[in-house]
Amino acid sequence: MTSWLVAGAAGFLAAAQAQETNVALAHLDSLAAVLEAHPPTFAADPAREQAFLGLDRFFEAAVRPGQPFDLAEYPNDLWRWIDRRLQRALAEAEAAPGTADKLTVWQMYNMGLLCRSGKAVVGMDLTPVLPEADAFNRRVAALVDVLLVTHGHGDHYAPGLVHACLAAGKPVFLPAASAAELPPDPCLFPVDDFREAEVSSVRLTARRGIHVWAAGRETVPIVYYELAFPSGHAAIFCGDLDYTRAFEKTPGLAIDLLVVPWRSPNESYEPGSPRQTAERKDAVQIAIDRIQPRHLLYGHYAELGHVHGGMPASYEIAAGLKRAVATPSEWMFWGEKLVFPPIP
Ligand SMILES: [Zn+2]
Repeated sequence: MTSWLVAGAAGFLAAAQAQETNVALAHLDSLAAVLEAHPPTFAADPAREQAFLGLDRFFEAAVRPGQPFDLAEYPNDLWRWIDRRLQRALAEAEAAPGTADKLTVWQMYNMGLLCRSGKAVVGMDLTPVLPEADAFNRRVAALVDVLLVTHGHGDHYAPGLVHACLAAGKPVFLPAASAAELPPDPCLFPVDDFREAEVSSVRLTARRGIHVWAAGRETVPIVYYELAFPSGHAAIFCGDLDYTRAFEKTPGLAIDLLVVPWRSPNESYEPGSPRQTAERKDAVQIAIDRIQPRHLLYGHYAELGHVHGGMPASYEIAAGLKRAVATPSEWMFWGEKLVFPPIP
């Protein structure tokens, strides 16, 4: 009798839990539908911004311990939902005709980007979101001409994907400290300090920097990448770089897109820190003054591991920066894309 009651209660709880996750996913679908109708834009879009503020609230109520998609349960239906968006972006990138004069940039997880310019496809800090990642890794390896990795943190660097790219004969650039942990491979290009290369008509310049909130260069070896695409567009991808410290570009090169990481690059810009001396927008302005980009993209927002650990999802910070900074800026949700028109 007792065991029958316990089994009945467990069944009821499981059903209630399934109901709760279904309701939560339906809400997520409704926010994604708003973004579908309001795609990335450097102009103001209040409906788009409201959807992101909804995502802030969703993630903070959904992924933390004891919540419907507690990330301790891995993988769960939220990861599968995100994976479907990434698979769709991959399919778009695979099918894109590769017009010679446009640059298309897809937002992948976490801060990962896929860039297509002409026939060239560059992957930056790409990571799969599901443990059964082999198919994803092989698909990315078949698609990209080169994989760039800024540093060895797990939300930017997936050794399985690096292995898949090397097995497919695709070059992989990464910090020398991360490369030293892998078997030697002719397609592995360690970056110690500065390295230039050309891959599939993309001119690539890799430079060492300092990771956000790190004491110095050796704390977390990190490389940031400047890319001059065959379409004539140029971009700089920071990863988790503290862009207020060592940060430069090729003199005279016009940069169409600068991608900077979330929140504060160090404690000097962190609200409430005893060492705070300026605002977050002042930090971003330092990057703008050095690089003079035509467009700015805020990356790394809502990284779910950080949210699980108690940090806010922070899209609200990106929205505030977009309003505060004069350079046209934007951020994207996983799976979204931006298309840069031909340079006049
Ligand atoms: Zn990092």
